[in-house]
This record gives sequence, C-alpha cells and structure tokens, in this order.
Amino acid sequence: MEKLLYTGKAKQMWQTDDPDVLRVVYLDQATAFNGKKKEHFAGKGEAANAISSLVFQYLIKHGIKTHFIKKLSPTEDLVKRCTMYPLEFVTRNVIAGHFAGRYGLAEGAALSEPVEETFYKSDRLDDPFINESATVALDIADHEALAQMWAICRQVNDLLKPLFARAGMQLVDFKLEFGRLSTGEIVLADEFSPDNCRLWDIKTDQHLDKDVYRRKLADLTQTYDEVLARLQAVVKEEG
Ligand code: ADP
Ligand code: UDP
Repeated sequence: MEKLLYTGKAKQMWQTDDPDVLRVVYLDQATAFNGKKKEHFAGKGEAANAISSLVFQYLIKHGIKTHFIKKLSPTEDLVKRCTMYPLEFVTRNVIAGHFAGRYGLAEGAALSEPVEETFYKSDRLDDPFINESATVALDIADHEALAQMWAICRQVNDLLKPLFARAGMQLVDFKLEFGRLSTGEIVLADEFSPDNCRLWDIKTDQHLDKDVYRRKLADLTQTYDEVLARLQAVVKEEG
C-alpha cells in the first residue's frame, strides 16, 4: 500500500513498494511568504512538473547527479528517496527579492559574481539565514558536504544560465535542495521550477516566475506555461 509521507506547500511525497523510491505529486497550489498566502491554480502542478522534469533531465544529461528517475504522469514523478539536508542553497546572479530589501538596493543590477546564501529550512522560523560555521557546529552538514553541494550549485548555474538565456530569459536567482541517497551519495533533489527561481524576460524584464503571484502581476499558470513552451523549443532545437 502506498503511504502519504508528507504534504508540503507545493508537492506531496508518497512511499512506493520500493523503499528507495518516492512518488512525487505536484499540487495545483501556490503559496508565498512561507505559506501565509495560499491559493488554488488549475494546471499549475502540471506546468511546474513539466518544467522541473525538463530541467532535471537537462542537468542529468550534462553530468549532474540528481534524485530524478522519471516522469510518471503530467503531475507525478518517481524520484530516489533521500535524507534531505534541511537547507536551501540560494544563488543570485542579479539583485532581487530579499537581497535587494536587506541591503536597501533597487532590483535589477547584475552582481559582479554570484552571491551564495544558505537558509535553514523551517516554516516556524521563516527559513533563517545560516552561515557555514553554524551549519557545521549544529551538525546540519559538515564542511566537505557543504563544499560538494556548493560545487553542484555552481555547475547548475553554469548550465542553466545559458539554457534560460537561449530561451530569452535571465536566470536572476534560484534555490536548490540536496539530500543523501541510502548509499551516502549527495544528489540534487526537490525541484527546479519558477516556484524556486526568478526568471526575467531578456528584452522586457517581464517577470516569468512566482513573483507574478507574490506581486499580483499576471496569471500564474499562463506564465509557467510560457516558460515551459520557451524551454521546450530550445531543448528540441538542441536535440
Ligand atoms: P515544502 O516542504 O517547502 O513545503 P514541497 O511542497 O515542495 O516543499 O515538499 C516537498 C518536500 O519533499 C520538501 O520538504 C523537500 O525537501 C522534500 N524532498 C524533495 N525531494 C526529496 C527526495 N528525493 N527524498 C525525500 N524528500 C524529498
Ligand atoms: N526561494 C525558494 N524558497 C524559499 C525562499 C526563496 O524557492 O523558501 C527562492 C526564490 O523563489 C528566489 C530565491 O530563492 O528565486 C531567492 O529568494 P529571496 O531570498 O529573494 O526570497 P523571496 O523574496 O523570494 O522570498
């Protein structure tokens, strides 16, 4: 019998007959401000799953080790079960969001090098910033694991910035999560969709990510469908 292990803000995680494999279900739901704002959006789960599956398949093709096994249906995937690090790894190429607010800066200027920030995953505490020494001292992850995960973040940025650019979008910032497989290997897990990154149209700076919901700028599902169509066109061209 399949058992529901977890219902999060965007996905459900189901146990399968194989203890090392989970079934992920993408929900037609969007949340913002750590779940304080929540709404139903028909078709959002399908669009987010399609984008994330495409991106994970692209990363795997280019040598990144991930949890992704395969897409099962428009809203479902099979993934390798991980013991997750309760950390969010944020990489920023352009000033936006909380980074702009924290330092009193306008959004939009490119950063001279990517900014790397780690947050401790806790809805109760509103995902506080955490530095390397606290992460290690609190036994959340050791220096070696953190170095490995940041190295993967850099590879992902180097692969995805040009991919999104070819699709006419600037990869402003993004959040990644990692876990350990039963073998101990660290892999990229969770998802990569406009729920966890900022994408701006290269020509118009139009927002093509969850900010359209956070800031009430445009229809969320239509926006995600647009991102998907652009990515599909680029990936198809590349063969
Ligand atoms: P949240 O927990 O932030 O509300 P989601 O709704 O996306 O987010 O829920 C998915 C949950 O599953 C997250 O807590 C994420 O860390 C976790 N997760 C992602 N991939 C895996 C995996 N391969 N194995 C186990 N847990 C995972
Ligand atoms: N992000 C995320 N989950 C979080 C917080 C941030 O996926 O709990 C993503 C967010 O979508 C953006 C990047 O991380 O692409 C940087 O987010 P920021 O710190 O600016 O916070 P935000 O303003 O997005 O809450």
